[in-house]
Amino acid sequence: MNGISKSFSKFYYYIMLNNNLLSFADGKNIKAVFFDMDGVLFDSMPYHAQAWQRALSERGLPFSLYDAYLHEGRTADSTIDEAFIRAYGHTADSRTKDEIYSAKTDYFHQYPEPPQIPAVADVLRYVRSKNRQILVVTGSAQMSLLDRLQSNFPDIFEEGKIISAFDVEHGKPHPEPYLIALRRAGVAADEAIVVENAPLGVRSAVAAGISTIAVNTGVLDSKVLADEGASIVLSDMQELKQIMQIILT
Ligand code: CA
Repeated sequence: MNGISKSFSKFYYYIMLNNNLLSFADGKNIKAVFFDMDGVLFDSMPYHAQAWQRALSERGLPFSLYDAYLHEGRTADSTIDEAFIRAYGHTADSRTKDEIYSAKTDYFHQYPEPPQIPAVADVLRYVRSKNRQILVVTGSAQMSLLDRLQSNFPDIFEEGKIISAFDVEHGKPHPEPYLIALRRAGVAADEAIVVENAPLGVRSAVAAGISTIAVNTGVLDSKVLADEGASIVLSDMQELKQIMQIILT
């Protein structure tokens, strides 16, 4: 990182990061920050990717680790359909989907508990100290991780502020999860910021009309995240904390 410099005009912050000029609406209007979970709060993506690859490849469905990162955020059904369509030109039946997802979940649970993403707890505490709402918006249905949110990040997430696979009809990249988050927070799209690590998560948030910061915590080319409409692509949570300190005063 080459460092961050900032300036401020009537309505916008201008941030120079690694020679890219970015503008953000005045942070005084920002009332809520929405965080994705896998790859943003927990470093769980390496395990998810390996579990998907194993569960799909044993069915003869080619699926690389890069594919897993590329499709991260899809519902399990949609991920399995994606692999089926690529291999056979049609979607999977529901029994096959259940079997594959059950195998994937078993493999995922064979790995140790994923650690927190380094420094994300600092970011959460900073946002909380500035009295902004914090919501989690995840496509996950993994109770093991959802249950750990409160114990791993004490006093950060209020009741009813965690939106998971159990709350939505359409998963990411559909905008529904982030539209529900806006409703739950009681804020307009231009009063929120999203933090995402996955291309389809960025697409979902941008489709909901929310400015989105991508933090590339995985293996993807950063361009993939920028192409989905992220306002900025950062390389780690230290950079995100610097950006938050500029935006949320
Ligand atoms: Ca994610």
